[in-house]
Amino acid sequence: MVRGSCLCGRVRYEIAGPLKRALNCHCSMCRKAHGAAFRTRASVRAEDFRWIAGQQHVKYYESSPGNHRGFCAECGSPILSRFDFDPTVLGVPFGCFDDDPGVKPTLHVHVASRAPWHDITDDLPRFDTLPERR
Ligand SMILES: [Zn+2]
Ligand SMILES: [Zn+2]
Repeated sequence: MVRGSCLCGRVRYEIAGPLKRALNCHCSMCRKAHGAAFRTRASVRAEDFRWIAGQQHVKYYESSPGNHRGFCAECGSPILSRFDFDPTVLGVPFGCFDDDPGVKPTLHVHVASRAPWHDITDDLPRFDTLPERR
């Protein structure tokens, strides 16, 4: 079980299933959405994600066709992404977790778009775009 919450605390959730394909995404949309060098995120089954509080505060921005980024409309924290092409899966960023999820990112994607002021200093595999699912 992994619990998460937004900066202002209005939005709270828990994830009861496995976090898959944890990675760091360096694309410009993730950088801007997070105000950070990259977004650490994983995929979870939608059925494993449960709202605890504040679902009504979550606003969605369609950053690319069919990709809806949900964030707290009060404080701006990124909460999850949902996808029109596969409603059974959600993308969740690690930044709002309150528990240790027990997994760490295993690769970097969209490295070609990385911020010029950020150096990747680990030995994880790097991909210029998004590699096919393994
Ligand atoms: Zn909030
Ligand atoms: Zn991205």
